Amino acid sequence: DRRITRVKELIKDYPDFPKPGILFRDIFPVLQDAKAFRGLVDAMVDFIKANCDGVEVIIGLDSRGFLFGPMIAEALGISFVPIRKAGKLPGETYKVEYTLEYGTDKCEMQKESVKPGQKIVILDDLLATGGTMKAACDLADVAQATVLCCVVVIELTDLQGRKRLKYPCHAFIQY
Ligand code: 5GP
Repeated sequence: DRRITRVKELIKDYPDFPKPGILFRDIFPVLQDAKAFRGLVDAMVDFIKANCDGVEVIIGLDSRGFLFGPMIAEALGISFVPIRKAGKLPGETYKVEYTLEYGTDKCEMQKESVKPGQKIVILDDLLATGGTMKAACDLADVAQATVLCCVVVIELTDLQGRKRLKYPCHAFIQY
């Protein structure tokens, strides 16, 4: 897919960010190129249309899942729902705690934003250790949603994050 080749050209690598030893893959240059960004969103919409039959809700992960999620949901004519770090969402929420490299973090989703049995796709920019995506899947389970697929732009394959997920996962670019 030419659209994905173009995205790959634009992703910029930053060694030792945010910590020594980490090679950070920056997707913001893609958003600086309107045609490339449009191509990426279209490719993601095409994938979901072809592989996620009957999807009713796109769930985007804090914070770069918010860059693509609403555009994709709008294009599909379906709902967008955010999962956010703890303390950011008003009203009643489902909460899940997950472990990071050092310590733990919490993420939340608003109750009633997803109904039991609803078919959802969970979206983020990048899958690394899979901790973030796994927490999102756990939240979906708590809400009794049906996870059709986890979708990320980039997967860092040597971290084997995919192994932590019990649902199918699609990545457009793998390093
Ligand atoms: P994980 O929980 O899989 O270890 O980390 C994935 C989360 O961290 C995602 O929400 C992603 O946005 C962020 N992340 C980790 N490494 C990178 C990176 O190299 N580039 C970008 N853009 N995000 C990263």
